[in-house]
Amino acid sequence: MVEPLVDGHGRRISDLRVSVTDRCNFRCQYCMPTEGLPWLERGEILSFEEIERVVRLMVGMGVTDVRLTGGEPLVRREFTRLVAMLAGVEGLADLALTTNGFLLERDADALVAAGIDRVNVSIDSLQRDRFFQMTRRDSLPQVLRGLEAVARHPEVHPIKVNAVAMRGFTEAEAVPFAEFARSTAFQVRFIEFMPLDGDRSWRPDDVLTGDELRATIHAVHPLEEVPRERSATARIFRFRDGRGEMGFINPVSEPFCDDCNRIRLTAEGKLRTCLFSVGETDLREPLRAGAGDDELRHIVRDAVWRKELKHRVSEPGFRPPPRTMSAIGG
Ligand code: SAM
Ligand code: SF4
Repeated sequence: MVEPLVDGHGRRISDLRVSVTDRCNFRCQYCMPTEGLPWLERGEILSFEEIERVVRLMVGMGVTDVRLTGGEPLVRREFTRLVAMLAGVEGLADLALTTNGFLLERDADALVAAGIDRVNVSIDSLQRDRFFQMTRRDSLPQVLRGLEAVARHPEVHPIKVNAVAMRGFTEAEAVPFAEFARSTAFQVRFIEFMPLDGDRSWRPDDVLTGDELRATIHAVHPLEEVPRERSATARIFRFRDGRGEMGFINPVSEPFCDDCNRIRLTAEGKLRTCLFSVGETDLREPLRAGAGDDELRHIVRDAVWRKELKHRVSEPGFRPPPRTMSAIGG
């Protein structure tokens, strides 16, 4: 075993998020502009073989969890073939997917057969018109059918539903989502809105905090906290009467940088050590220039060593990174 991946602040890196495309079939307000973004050309995007090589190397350095994301991962052609390739990487403990769910009804069975372990589906409202307002696509019924299609596979567990929490919108979703979590096996999590939107309209006041949402839910359905695992991003609460649980991911109001164990690979092969990184490290050029494993490991180790101590979203003078969420891989 090669030496594990650690950063200069002593954090061990075990979680890699891989973006497989910057394209998407939705235009969520908190992520992408209505008109989309300038997409990468096909040749700029890492091939499945290149992604597999990077994953294999990193798993050899102590990465145990890989999450596939985008853009919308299911719009990448033959995506399930990549899932099968990665599921075969020895030493990888958990292979997960984050998707908007639009194509899940089509793909769920193939994804499970290919070896996906866990799926998160992003759903911001359980009401069709409000879902449309947030995602700019009238697709709630399609997404719910996708969610049901994965839920037919008990081996994919847990299935999580993620909603971005925006002030002025999500307040009305708190109790309906709590009731959804109480009446199904899905774990619902609210994620605070971060300054990574394509419209660049984020303001601190737009963040509806996890605490506010929790208080709203607690008043109707009392909650109690479940002790948190180190490096878990979500604070988990269960309903006191034992019916289900909810998660709150609070990167803005309660940053969890001290325990961060993650790095990210963008669709065109840039290694990012923080969602808010300003700099990044190119892996595509060395991959295509024929770099050996030792050379690639050295590049990765060096980049990880310089991982940012923390993000500075709530500090004066904060500037969002040039890339927005869909171009990073959330
Ligand atoms: N397209 C897939 C999806 O929506 O699940 C995967 C990529 S998306 C960028 C990953 C996650 O990031 C989604 O759960 C989405 O809601 C979340 N997200 C996007 N923009 C965000 C923002 N500005 N703040 C917080 N979360 C955001
Ligand atoms: Fe697409 Fe996901 Fe961004 Fe929505 S959050 S626009 S589904 S990448």
